Amino acid sequence: MSLLVVGSVAFDAIETPLGKVDRTLGGAASYFALAASHFTPVRIVAVVGEDFTKKEEGVFRGRKINLDGLERASGKSFFWSGRYSTNMNERTTLATELNVFANFRPTLPVSYRDSRFVFLGNIDPTLQRSVLRQMKSKPKVAALDTMNYWISGTPEALRQALKDIHVLMINDDETRQLTGEHNLLRAAKAVFKMGPRTLVIKRGEHGALMIHEKFIFSVPAFPLEEVHDPTGAGDSFAGGFMGYLASVGRIDEPTLRSAMVYGSVVGSFTVERFGVERLANVTRRELAARARRFSKLTAFRL
Ligand code: AMP
Repeated sequence: MSLLVVGSVAFDAIETPLGKVDRTLGGAASYFALAASHFTPVRIVAVVGEDFTKKEEGVFRGRKINLDGLERASGKSFFWSGRYSTNMNERTTLATELNVFANFRPTLPVSYRDSRFVFLGNIDPTLQRSVLRQMKSKPKVAALDTMNYWISGTPEALRQALKDIHVLMINDDETRQLTGEHNLLRAAKAVFKMGPRTLVIKRGEHGALMIHEKFIFSVPAFPLEEVHDPTGAGDSFAGGFMGYLASVGRIDEPTLRSAMVYGSVVGSFTVERFGVERLANVTRRELAARARRFSKLTAFRL
């Protein structure tokens, strides 16, 4: 089934204990779309500047990624720069230059308006809402990501946006900040009252936890000896998760559980190299092999 993503397409400068890149393709929508395209066709809504060339476009072309909704504006693309400490869970944002992203008003091409699965990447909640309003009919699954900036800065707009959302995908700090509850199970109950009936908590190297009204499911992160660059792991997770759901077209419990595993599988490839490099060249075979290893990693007898 059709899958739409709205979010940032950016240039990133990244420094980790294992290396440094000055300018590489990044942005939440880039990671999401590349991840999801391994499972299903994806439609992107984002804005880029004049510095976004055929070279960057080439990363998306030749895959099942529709760029009709990629707006070109005059000026520079969104630029983000970050540095990771030795434990890689901590990151310092060195620069956020919104550039053309500052005036981004997502407009859905008519051909996108029937999308059945929608991922609202981390942008202004008012814009996230405006995307849902442009849809011809309510999507089967709408998922939303957000961050501390919007949780504390525009809480009312976020509350409004959450009313029409099925799956909220955020990290544990954001979950606690949003709900005022430290305990994640209690926090989930507070989230259910806001609208979403499923909360997916991304926990970096500790994997991810799904709290659904009727069940809980936990998936580890794949144990890797070397993590080169954790940037985009969360968006890749979301892409694998939503891409898998859209490819199956159902959201029953077994499908949601598998989607969590595929999210973690894709995220684990992203962090193996800087930027989107590994995510862009991982094969179906490698994804399937790692999914089998997840099955072994977590199997046990009662
Ligand atoms: P993640 O590591 O999953 O948080 O995603 C990192 C990506 O998000 C980077 O490629 C950045 O370009 C992008 N990013 C960073 N800050 C923002 C922001 N405020 N709004 C939208 N995208 C952002």
